[in-house]
Amino acid sequence: MNGRHTSLDEFAAEKLAALEGKALRRRLIETDRREAVRATRNGRELISFCCNDYLNLSQHPAIKRAAMVATEEYGVGAGASRLVSGNHPLFAALERRLADWKQSEDCVVFGSGYMANLGIVPALVGAGDLILADELSHACLMSGAKLSGAEFAIFRHNDLAHLEALLAAHRGDAQHRLILTDGIFSMDGDAAPVEALAALAARHDAWLMTDDAHGIGVVGRDGRGSSFMGKEKAAVPLQMGTLSKAVGSYGGYLCASRAVCDLIRTRARTLIYSTGLPPGVVAASIAALDFIRDNPDFCKRPVEKARGFARALGLPAPESPIVPLILGDAEQTLAASALLETEGFLVTAIRPPTVPPGTARLRFTFTAEHDDADIARLVNIVRERILSRRAAE
Ligand SMILES: *Cc1c(COP(=O)(O)O)cnc(C)c1O
Repeated sequence: MNGRHTSLDEFAAEKLAALEGKALRRRLIETDRREAVRATRNGRELISFCCNDYLNLSQHPAIKRAAMVATEEYGVGAGASRLVSGNHPLFAALERRLADWKQSEDCVVFGSGYMANLGIVPALVGAGDLILADELSHACLMSGAKLSGAEFAIFRHNDLAHLEALLAAHRGDAQHRLILTDGIFSMDGDAAPVEALAALAARHDAWLMTDDAHGIGVVGRDGRGSSFMGKEKAAVPLQMGTLSKAVGSYGGYLCASRAVCDLIRTRARTLIYSTGLPPGVVAASIAALDFIRDNPDFCKRPVEKARGFARALGLPAPESPIVPLILGDAEQTLAASALLETEGFLVTAIRPPTVPPGTARLRFTFTAEHDDADIARLVNIVRERILSRRAAE
């Protein structure tokens, strides 16, 4: 057998070895989470600073009970696509709550945030249209854009002037223009200038879509998300997000006008050709949204805790519960993560291609129920064993 007929397994093994050599191989590690901020790995209990469960609602007793009651009532699965027979009665209640919370006319719930973006973007634009995306937009917005077949250009992170120049340069050669951005950037934790983007989009007759995966429940007025960080609600016609982070459950959504939602229900392939979410999952999201509505002060805690951590380390004040500590080198980042693990903290290393080359980082996420004493101990270890070592190099 010569090298020209490499078997599938050999191909996979070689590819993995090459990635391993660059510290870019990934592994699944069993992580047993049963409490708000604790996780057990390799038999050791760790305090997690890397869950997106910002309000710890995945473990909330009343929300777990809501899922169990709905499962008893409706069964464990939806049984079909929502367009066939999977549209159980809980979907309407969830969509009404989301539309109210985001102050939109209507809402469509998808199987996940990833599926939402893969479905929404190609349903709205295609060949002959133009998509402009912030360079740090989440992978699934980029995938949706590629899948759409529309012309696709990237603007520099949060750079309104660059976006405006691209819109001007393409004036006339696209039928529709769609701007894509995270509302809160998943790996950097900063906010997009949503109000200014909305104004710019209106000036250029472009459509703005924000991915608010890390916004709902934790930023903006009462935790309504990144469209609500200013005095007035920003005019974002396409507010997309996920139910898998602060909401603690699973699923994706688009809040938009009735006409847009009707089009999505008719044309988004990931909605049409995929089974509806299980009733228990939808019931958990409903209970979690009720909790968020009724507990605005609790919803402020993740960002407050992130701010306290950043302040103690002299890092810029975060706008979300996410605080990145960019170390650059993938191997050093893995070593820093391993060091924190020996100290009882779970903080995974984030490496390319999740983040741009040369920007491997520790990504700390804060939740409502993190203990301030644990945060203080984490600050000390980061300062004395990670930052000081780098300063000395
Ligand atoms: C997590 C995330 C998604 C994907 O959502 P899932 O519901 O987990 O599929 C989409 N966009 C952003 C910005 C995210 O952080």
